[in-house]
Amino acid sequence: MITRFAPSPTGYLHWGHAFSALTAFASAHEAGDRFILRIEDIDATRCRPEYEAAIFEDLAWLGLSWESPVRRQSDHMADYRIALDSLTARGLAYRCFRTRREVVDAMASAPHGPQEAFTGAALPAAEEARRLGAGEAFAWRLSLLAARDELGAAWDDLSFVDEIAGPTKARPELAGDIVLARKDVGVAYHLAVVHDDALQEITHVIRGEDLFEATHIQRLLQALLGLPKPVYRHHRLVMGDDGKRLAKRDKAETLSELRARGVTAADVRAGLGF
Ligand code: GLU
Repeated sequence: MITRFAPSPTGYLHWGHAFSALTAFASAHEAGDRFILRIEDIDATRCRPEYEAAIFEDLAWLGLSWESPVRRQSDHMADYRIALDSLTARGLAYRCFRTRREVVDAMASAPHGPQEAFTGAALPAAEEARRLGAGEAFAWRLSLLAARDELGAAWDDLSFVDEIAGPTKARPELAGDIVLARKDVGVAYHLAVVHDDALQEITHVIRGEDLFEATHIQRLLQALLGLPKPVYRHHRLVMGDDGKRLAKRDKAETLSELRARGVTAADVRAGLGF
């Protein structure tokens, strides 16, 4: 078994991250197997070195150890480009010039939902050439129609096993034509994640249930890129005292704050059931 914890250094870790990391670590450890830490920092505008440093510090404080060197995604942008190129070369992706606002509006106004707004939305060739000539920025989106054509019957068999939810049919169409490469960053989360999970031979992807939907699309990308399919475990989210899920943006109490006010790592582990 090879598990991983793959945080983005966009804020300080809180209880929810601790639960995820401990679950992945304990699963590997109990099996006498490997645990990998991966830093998902493709978004240079939101990631900060001090958050990355805090990830190492917090996890070590919690009693975790991991293999080195730690893969930092921003060091490997060329790898993701190769994966993207293999999809674009096969006609599985198209350039999307829409702004975030236009995307939101199109999704909201599509009578049959986002799927319709994002299926086959490539521009006519002349219009695309004009925009490229004008230097307009574009994102690469996966074409679900092209993906379905390429996979044929295999499209209907796309599935994954979640250790909690059980065997699950993958329904990538729910997310519409997802972004493979962002205008500003050059790659997007789903592509980088499936690439690295395969490269690092992750057998069990253990993460919060907020990422359950992501697995539908990641399963499709694995099939298109010929990558192995890990087992998944999407665990419950740790809730705050107000019953809402903890999130960095809500300023949920961070592990470093807990530590600063004298809470011990043993307290945190016990509080999370470890
Ligand atoms: N980097 C992602 C995050 O911080 C998690 C990716 C994953 O576990 O697949 O939310």
